Amino acid sequence: MSQFNRACVVGAGTMGHGIAFVLAQSGINVTLLDRDQAALENALANIEHLLESEVLKQKILIEDAHDIRARISIGRDLEELTDSDLMVEAVSEDIELKQHIFSIADAMMDDDALLASNTSSLSISKIADAVVQKERMLGLHFFNPPHVMKLLEIVVHEDVGIKAIEDAKALALLLRKECIVVNDSPGFATSRLGVALSLEAIRMLEQGVANVMDIDTAMKLGYGHPMGPLMLTDWVGLDVRLAISEHLAKSLDSLVFNPPELLRRLVRAGFLGKKTGTGFYEWDKGRHLGVSQSLMELFLTA
Ligand code: NAD
Repeated sequence: MSQFNRACVVGAGTMGHGIAFVLAQSGINVTLLDRDQAALENALANIEHLLESEVLKQKILIEDAHDIRARISIGRDLEELTDSDLMVEAVSEDIELKQHIFSIADAMMDDDALLASNTSSLSISKIADAVVQKERMLGLHFFNPPHVMKLLEIVVHEDVGIKAIEDAKALALLLRKECIVVNDSPGFATSRLGVALSLEAIRMLEQGVANVMDIDTAMKLGYGHPMGPLMLTDWVGLDVRLAISEHLAKSLDSLVFNPPELLRRLVRAGFLGKKTGTGFYEWDKGRHLGVSQSLMELFLTA
């Protein structure tokens, strides 16, 4: 029997609904909390769509799909945190907002509960400043989409307790994820390396070293990456990449993370990748259709 019986995921967006799905798949009852009713309804629709497609692909039995769905509920009131032994916070990337959620969770949840943030770049120590019982708070960085990506990055700060780290490792095992333990530092291990690679790929494109496809193929076939850095930037969102690179450039005081002008221009023009239908590639209903013609015509000709 798992030590986690009931969890709350706060923030029902891209990551929150996916994290709720993997927790429920592992037998945990989950309440997905968001301040926005439309986000909650959208999250449930996404989860139901995901269950249907996993059943069609024969990855999940239909009766298991019903059980998983039955374990997920939604709510708008943070009072629901009271009976949970785990909170995963997945609200927007805003330090004050996250601190606010953690101060409430810290006050409401049992002393034994684990409090985790899914931030991909903010300082876990700074978020922990809002928590009195700092030893039970850490970073649990899931990757997109959480039901596919095998990694769970556990981010620890100076005041974290051994119990919280052990609990996080036990959760990773339960969710069938591989975990790594990383000290709190800007970008942790994953975002720091991933962003450095993608920014260099954009600079190479800007300097005419090679075209979009050839830069991506270089990393796929030369280094065995499942996806090239430019396509991955389209997946993540160019605006998200830009915000993280600005944060890393400032906090690490390193030129490596200075955003290339091409990235800034694309974001200003609304070319944000998969979510807007155009980035380095063109996208339709989540499928890429080839290299973006607008990119070639508007940004790479001069
Ligand atoms: P998102 O914008 O899709 O979702 C954020 C949700 O938080 C929204 O539904 C919003 O309504 C909700 N929210 C905002 N304020 C709230 C409040 N006060 N109370 C309750 N809900 C509130 O964002 P996302 O992409 O899912 O990212 C969430 C977190 O996960 C961020 O910290 C991000 O850095 C991290 N992350 C994102 C990815 C990714 O690929 N998108 C990957 C790993 C980690």
